[in-house]
Amino acid sequence: MKTLFRNARLYRQKKSINFLVFEGRIKEISNGINFANIENEIDLENALVLPGFVECHTHTVFAGNRGLEMEMKFQGRSYQEIAQAGGGILSTVQATREASLHDLMVLTEKRIQNFIDQGVTTLEIKSGYGLDLDTEIKMLRAIPKNSRIEIVRTFLGAHAKPSEYKTHPEYLNDLAEKYLPEIKKQNLASRVDIFIEKGFFEKEESKRYLLKAQSLGFELTIHADQLSLSGGTELGCELKARSTDHCIQVSDSEIQKLSESQTVAVLLPAADLYLKCAYPPARKMIDAGVKVALATDFNPGTSPTQDLGLVGMLARREMKMTLDEVVQAYTLHSAQALGLQNEIGSIEIGKKADFTVWNCDEEELFLQVGGMKPYQVYKMGLKI
Ligand SMILES: [Zn+2]
Repeated sequence: MKTLFRNARLYRQKKSINFLVFEGRIKEISNGINFANIENEIDLENALVLPGFVECHTHTVFAGNRGLEMEMKFQGRSYQEIAQAGGGILSTVQATREASLHDLMVLTEKRIQNFIDQGVTTLEIKSGYGLDLDTEIKMLRAIPKNSRIEIVRTFLGAHAKPSEYKTHPEYLNDLAEKYLPEIKKQNLASRVDIFIEKGFFEKEESKRYLLKAQSLGFELTIHADQLSLSGGTELGCELKARSTDHCIQVSDSEIQKLSESQTVAVLLPAADLYLKCAYPPARKMIDAGVKVALATDFNPGTSPTQDLGLVGMLARREMKMTLDEVVQAYTLHSAQALGLQNEIGSIEIGKKADFTVWNCDEEELFLQVGGMKPYQVYKMGLKI
């Protein structure tokens, strides 16, 4: 069916435009209405129209919560005290291992809807709270196959070392030899992620693991340089990873390498707020020519929020990103972080007709925490 959308006021454009959608993609864009054989017509009445948001880094599948641990952290209790009280990532692992597939599916569906309500039309979700093959598979299966939006699945078995293993390299070896081939065989994920950090998964052993993943056809992304300069960003550039994420402790030479690569720096300021740590040097990166994307990092332990408005506001307030840079970071650049920049992320001929319609001025975007919502969301030209 050919649908004509009339009177769309695109972000930063003074004049409204019309665009024609056929089979889910934008076929033509024009100022006039000289289109033939229109079967359906929708008047957007000069409302603000944005490309659908691309949320490119989340840990949306998990069971349990870490509220008690958060309270202890906020009250200044030590890491050891929190661990003794049963907190930390392994508590989410335990809860996720115990949850049924059905329970995880229900929790995940509700969270996906929260993202859709904010205008997200493409969403990345990672595994990584199973850390055993069965639970990692259960997590990836809990992500709906036929969602109303597009979902990109990432295998993050290398999130932390499960207590069953003595050393990180030992676990990575099993991940490479047993987990990756099985995830590939069952086609449960298209990307592989790893948490590279000193004292956790170190750079050299991570490189071998990522090369193995690449040889099996997985695309790469890396949790890099969050707590210390541990080389994850440099390795990401070297291996042509789609993105390196966090990038708080990046060096000047890593910024240089990022700027010369196609690798996107995905910044996650909501996690930095909860952890009360430094924000990444976004201004420096953008000025050096690095492509910067933003995401929530939604997870129960370090970023228990799905609020895109909070992320964008922090990027503006704490990282000196302009509103235009924030909008780009949540659309075209986050699409590139998923390797989908030729399909989504902007309203252009040939791309998927993923867009949102707003009843506010563009200056009001990424300002209000907890309330930034479009009134219509379209995925491939259909209202969802
Ligand atoms: Zn993360």
